[in-house]
Amino acid sequence: MTREDLPKVLEIMKREFPKWHAPIVKLIAQKRKDPLSALLCALLSTRTRDETTAEVCKRFLQRVKKPQDLLEIDQEELEKLIYPVGFYRNKARQLKELAKQLVEDFNGKVPDSLEDLLKLKGVGRKVANIVLSEGFGKPAIAVDVHVHRISNRWGLVKTKTPEETEEALMEILPREYWRDYNRLLVAFGQTICKPIKPKCGECPISKWCGYYNSLL
Ligand code: SF4
Repeated sequence: MTREDLPKVLEIMKREFPKWHAPIVKLIAQKRKDPLSALLCALLSTRTRDETTAEVCKRFLQRVKKPQDLLEIDQEELEKLIYPVGFYRNKARQLKELAKQLVEDFNGKVPDSLEDLLKLKGVGRKVANIVLSEGFGKPAIAVDVHVHRISNRWGLVKTKTPEETEEALMEILPREYWRDYNRLLVAFGQTICKPIKPKCGECPISKWCGYYNSLL
């Protein structure tokens, strides 16, 4: 796949997206459209299945409306609230530290720059870019395992780490697609282009895929 193919491929994926019934769609639906929920759900989602994150996010966001709420919940209650996300005890501790940082350093607001987001407890580039794109509507490419794997399978990039993939994509992906790229590729990776045994026979964009063409 070349960078010239990308607009066509991504338009096909946008059209197909509703048919995939991917777990990420349920997760997106559970979030409020604000930076804090984008941040909290992204943190809860690490090392956790999207179905589980969606359920936990729903009840968590009903209880937590602002960083101060997290400071007022005791550790044990918070653990119960986010159970069974992966590493829920560590995450509960991390969320309280994050809330303290937001209240003390950022006036209770989620910052809207990559630089400041990366100062927050437990926030790496993937989470920061999710907050920028989903929470603030800014152009940002969030690279997770699906985005990294599929971009390499297509032959669009040849990279070893998600960080390298993000850098390469920023060079070749038209800015208008930055925000949608994660959502589309995560849904695609959860349903069609799976890590093991991708369903190439059902794939609507196989003719552009480097991996598929290498098998012919
Ligand atoms: Fe993934 Fe197969 Fe489609 Fe290529 S052809 S994008 S490997 S599902």
